[in-house]
Amino acid sequence: MRNSSADQLILETLGVQKSHLTSHQIYEGVHLRLPALNPSTVYRALDRLVSQGKVTVSDMGLGAAVFELAGEKPHHHLVCQGCGYITMIADDQIAPLMETLEKNYHYKIKTNHLVLFGLCEQCQQNH
Ligand SMILES: [Zn+2]
Ligand SMILES: [Zn+2]
Repeated sequence: MRNSSADQLILETLGVQKSHLTSHQIYEGVHLRLPALNPSTVYRALDRLVSQGKVTVSDMGLGAAVFELAGEKPHHHLVCQGCGYITMIADDQIAPLMETLEKNYHYKIKTNHLVLFGLCEQCQQNH
């Protein structure tokens, strides 16, 4: 089995769902299209896409890492630990922080999908 087809199917699965999927959910999506692919091939292809920067991987507090298409522009999230609501943050609010950190710590930051945990406005009132 050629690697490129596994890569392609993973990117298509993530593109169609347009959300954060666990590696298992991605495998299931790919498996529906091409049952001959074995899980280790899919997971290896997924790792490769992450290291190429085409797919982001994050901990969103769901118990398993989630993957998403990197897309043209990075985006980030606030995740409410009360109700689980996920808010999207545009990169222009995070980019200046990343630049400051890179400058101050002489780092090249590779995180392209930042997830911050907290409580949403609603949940703050309920606590
Ligand atoms: Zn995301
Ligand atoms: Zn909440």
